Amino acid sequence: MQYRTMDKLDFHPSIFGVGLMRLPTDGTRPGIKFELSTPLIHKAIDMGVNYFDTAYVYHDGVSEVALGKALKARPGDREKIKIATKLPIRKGGNPKVWEDVLDESLTRMGIDCVDFYLLHGLDGEKFDMCKDEALPFLDKMVQKGKIRYPSFSFHDDAAAFRRIIDSYDWCMAQVQFNLLDTFNQATLEGIRYAGKKNIPVVVMEPLRGGALARHVPEQVQALYDAFPVKRSPVEWAFRYVYNQPEVKVILSGIGTLQELEQNVDIFSRSAPGAMTPQELELIDQVRQAYESLAPIGCTGCRYCEPGCPMNIAIPDIFRGYDTAHIIGTPERFANTYERFIKDDRNAGKCIGCGHCEGVCPQHLPIIRHLGKLAEQFEK
Ligand code: SF4
Ligand code: SF4
Repeated sequence: MQYRTMDKLDFHPSIFGVGLMRLPTDGTRPGIKFELSTPLIHKAIDMGVNYFDTAYVYHDGVSEVALGKALKARPGDREKIKIATKLPIRKGGNPKVWEDVLDESLTRMGIDCVDFYLLHGLDGEKFDMCKDEALPFLDKMVQKGKIRYPSFSFHDDAAAFRRIIDSYDWCMAQVQFNLLDTFNQATLEGIRYAGKKNIPVVVMEPLRGGALARHVPEQVQALYDAFPVKRSPVEWAFRYVYNQPEVKVILSGIGTLQELEQNVDIFSRSAPGAMTPQELELIDQVRQAYESLAPIGCTGCRYCEPGCPMNIAIPDIFRGYDTAHIIGTPERFANTYERFIKDDRNAGKCIGCGHCEGVCPQHLPIIRHLGKLAEQFEK
């Protein structure tokens, strides 16, 4: 196993962190098969993994229970690992509710103190909603000895990420990052920004929800095949993420012993800054090949958004549609689109004023695209 350094915390995490959101189940919810999850967790610890990531909500709350059962079965293991879990941030939450949730997490895992405690899935809006109470709450929980390292996980754009990073003395930031998200979400630049501020970065979704392993378009495979060094698409995807020195842990969910062993094998070859210019060029080409499958071609720059009189979520609708096609799951976009209708920010609200098309640097026919999407998804 390879280890990195979180200087600020004097901790050397294994570059491979086990995500406990995809444990073996019997097919029902939550349905975790403890007789399989316990040995899997023990095996990961024996193979050198010292970072485990769960959340109050994973597997309907039973992911934390599964970790607790594994720790109870081998009492010495608690001292060998660091645990990250997450506090759901919902409207109406307050410090009393949050402390009850934290206490429940501690009870489920059978521990007195959680190492990394994350505000779960922050975006700019959620952060504004909770920050005045949530940041002092984290400080108080540290003082009470219930948590060690206040942290957050994140899903939004680079501007929101920087704003959150600058607002508190965070111990860690967990972000979605992979070769397709170099310029999305927190972005590579955002990760480097966190690194400059000495905030360790933990990466989730290194394979974009498995899509980079499952859906390898012909043109992408041809690029990998033509490269002199042969690696699987999964290894290329991980390699790109662990090439970034700011990334201290890469989370990957494990459901079977085979997946665990494959991951440990791939991560044993990890090294920051080890990719050659030719390899980085290959990754650029692969990203472009994926992007070429996007039907709309929106870059997500958001120039169009502020001036829309109907407050339509133009970039999010377009990026969602493009991404669904890039990763080979176009059928799932209908579900995603429900959110835009619910928020009253859907394509069908467009009045054709033309403001957006006047500012779009890609000169996209936005009104026409919105019309087609409204026709397809709003009937
Ligand atoms: S044309 Fe439609 S989407 Fe564009 S700014 Fe006007 S109302 Fe908004
Ligand atoms: S301005 Fe154009 S490219 Fe930028 S987010 Fe809007 S539609 Fe996409």
